Amino acid sequence: MNDSPLALLGGEPAVTAPAPHFVWPPIEDTDRRAVAAQLETAVSIPDRSGIVADLEDALASYLGVRHAVTTCTGTAALHSMYAAAGIGPGDEVIVPALTFHATATPLFHLGAHPVLADVDGHGRLDLEDAARRLTARTKAVAAVHLWGLPEDMDALVSFADEHELMLLEDGSHAHGATWNRQMTGTFGTASAFSLNGPKPLSAGEGGFVATDDTELYYRVLLHGQYNKRCRREIPHGHPLARFAVTGMGLKLRIHPLAAALARAQLPRLDARLAGRQESAARMCAALDGVPGIRVPRMPVSARPSWYALPLRYEPADLGGLPLERFLDAVRAEGAAEADRPGSTCPLGTHPLFQAPGALLPGYAGHQDRAVGDFPAAGHVHATTFKLPVWHREEDVHLADAYTAAIAKVASHAKDLL
Ligand SMILES: *Cc1c(COP(=O)(O)O)cnc(C)c1O
Repeated sequence: MNDSPLALLGGEPAVTAPAPHFVWPPIEDTDRRAVAAQLETAVSIPDRSGIVADLEDALASYLGVRHAVTTCTGTAALHSMYAAAGIGPGDEVIVPALTFHATATPLFHLGAHPVLADVDGHGRLDLEDAARRLTARTKAVAAVHLWGLPEDMDALVSFADEHELMLLEDGSHAHGATWNRQMTGTFGTASAFSLNGPKPLSAGEGGFVATDDTELYYRVLLHGQYNKRCRREIPHGHPLARFAVTGMGLKLRIHPLAAALARAQLPRLDARLAGRQESAARMCAALDGVPGIRVPRMPVSARPSWYALPLRYEPADLGGLPLERFLDAVRAEGAAEADRPGSTCPLGTHPLFQAPGALLPGYAGHQDRAVGDFPAAGHVHATTFKLPVWHREEDVHLADAYTAAIAKVASHAKDLL
């Protein structure tokens, strides 16, 4: 308990360490050496060789899948995954209503329809709502492990089986997260991951597709890797081999310097996830029972990657104090990284999802298919804020100072009313 008045009202702040408090990815000498060496080796790689092959081999072996194909972004990886899975005009894919938009937007570029389904009170896909939205055109369901907290993959796998849908995963928050000790990204037909700046595994910019399905792998190559790589990897005599020179006409390769960074980061991922695990447990223990705060409850099967620690805010505990006002006070305590999720929000609120035809002529008339109502997605989004999850022993003081700042604001909430 902190007896100083709230910093917002002139008291001493709970967090005194200078900002920034969280920097990702951590850049070490191994990263600097790897990128500098890559500069001297190759800055453009048209086939599966050098650092691209190294990184793909390492990713495939980390996940325990047969094939990994790197891409320039996670969005591109999702696009290639859906295209290679044969999702096409008129097809429908169930996507959680609460995620980053790129889980769904590549579907627009394939003529397909993202069909949003509501989430449960924890932000996981609500399978009852998803079941109500199935039609004869539904081809697949996309699993997103929001903030790195694994979906209930037992439930999702049986849902996909029962309804004869492809299960596809967007693992962009969840590198190295597991469900029943199985890596997220290995439960379905294929998965796509972002390697963007803040993601648990970072190339700065990049992404990859993972799959055990060799035919799907060839189609991923044809979607965004064209010519040399397709010529060398799609066997002569395969019906798709004759398309190798152009592929599907897109170029979505990863930059070799980005590949070098991700390759250098990967061996440290598990230790970082273990550090995050400890830190998240410590922060949850400190916040459990603080009025106004609900910490995530993880099933024993789940080992999150803790891309962030999402906390649910319960204003009724604090006399109805609005979340924005609560967070202003938390940030005034010096917890600068405490934040509402921004671009990860209910997809139905984006104009693109309400009126895709305005930008994508093929969807003129799509407005008739109302995006629908997603009360839980809206509620979860409106009542969630997140904290960074530190992985280093020496940052324990930051984790403690952040949870102290939150507890302090909660205990002084009446001063803000
Ligand atoms: C970051 C992200 C993407 C897109 O990845 P980019 O590398 O930014 O293109 C897709 N889905 C989710 C859930 C993400 O967080």
